[in-house]
Amino acid sequence: MITGIKSAYKPPICTSCHKPIPPKDDAVSFYCPECGKVMIWRCSKCRKAGVKYRCPNCGFEGP
Ligand SMILES: [Zn+2]
Ligand SMILES: [Zn+2]
Repeated sequence: MITGIKSAYKPPICTSCHKPIPPKDDAVSFYCPECGKVMIWRCSKCRKAGVKYRCPNCGFEGP
């Protein structure tokens, strides 16, 4: 018997720390201000800590 049923929910990955963001996390998401093509996610921890993110498309770094 195959039990291949997994949760369909895929949590977004924090662009700064690369960890999955829990559904109720106070995270923010926005498109890269430089190229506008990549959705940037930042978890609450990285927001509070002010960790930089780096766009995987254009390499833009922002606070
Ligand atoms: Zn993070
Ligand atoms: Zn970009």
